Amino acid sequence: GAKKEGPGSYELYDKVQGGEALRRLTIASELRSAIENDDLDVAYQPVFDVRSGRMTGVEALARWTTSSLGVVGPDEFVPAAERAGLIGPLGSWVLRRACTEAARWQTGDPVELRVNVSPLQLRQRTFASSLADTLERTGLAPDLLGIEITETLWLEDTSAVKNNLDELHRMGIKILLDDFGVGHSSLDYLTRFPILDAIKIDRSFVADLPTEQSEAVIRAVVSVADAFGLDVVGEGVETTAQLDSLVRCGCGYAQGYLMARPLPPGDVTALVASGGRMNVDAGPAR
Ligand code: C2E
Ligand code: MG
Ligand code: MG
Ligand code: MG
Repeated sequence: GAKKEGPGSYELYDKVQGGEALRRLTIASELRSAIENDDLDVAYQPVFDVRSGRMTGVEALARWTTSSLGVVGPDEFVPAAERAGLIGPLGSWVLRRACTEAARWQTGDPVELRVNVSPLQLRQRTFASSLADTLERTGLAPDLLGIEITETLWLEDTSAVKNNLDELHRMGIKILLDDFGVGHSSLDYLTRFPILDAIKIDRSFVADLPTEQSEAVIRAVVSVADAFGLDVVGEGVETTAQLDSLVRCGCGYAQGYLMARPLPPGDVTALVASGGRMNVDAGPAR
């Protein structure tokens, strides 16, 4: 058998596989009860207008700490929820919680809310109408909500997805293309989906700034976006050099650890109360 052939490699393989399978099962079952018991959290990362320095909105990012596994990131539990048939309940939970909290931040300048939405949620025929219910119950105006979707969605041009997106657009909800530039990105999508409001440049591109080549790429994206009337958000800004470079390239909005990490709702409330300005020391005046 396997044991005699090598230095225990098959055994190790089995153990690793078994451990992963167990972790997945644990995540799926604990996630189910976490959703039912309101045992998740949402962090909010501020988005800034780079010219005025004003905070224009926040992106909702799901957070989860389990009793047996500790902190599990959304990069792991969102795909787990998709596999376990839990993305509908998880997505609805996040939308309900985030809309409720964002409605409370509308005390002065508008604070737009952005929520990540899985392609599987948009395949559910009732997605748009149930979101309309959520907005009505939470009191958040539809034009203050945007959903972030990834490019993989464009590949599934099913009627349910298309109907949902059209309906959301008709309601005044904004639609943002997340992680632009990675995967199967094609300018063709921009013409096929005229309902888009903004594109978010993936942080792998921002990380390469400020080289001449990467600036040429960002400038090209900005010029195409301008032609289509789309806003451009730079994601994952970690240095003032990257921020300055985005500004030079004409990118209108930015998000990243340099300006603000994803924050608990109480911190957003404080930020809103204090005027929500970008607080970055170095770099030229802007
Ligand atoms: P995303 O939508 O592209 O979100 C941006 C991710 O980059 C977040 O990771 C955020 O914390 C992180 N980030 C922000 N600024 C910086 C920075 O300056 N440097 C670096 N290195 N990272 C930065 P997070 O919160 O772990 O989320 C990962 C992904 O999980 C998200 O990527 C999104 O695709 C997904 N996700 C999160 N919450 C939800 C949700 O409620 N529903 C769905 N469907 N997906 C979600
Ligand atoms: Mg996003
Ligand atoms: Mg992104
Ligand atoms: Mg992502």
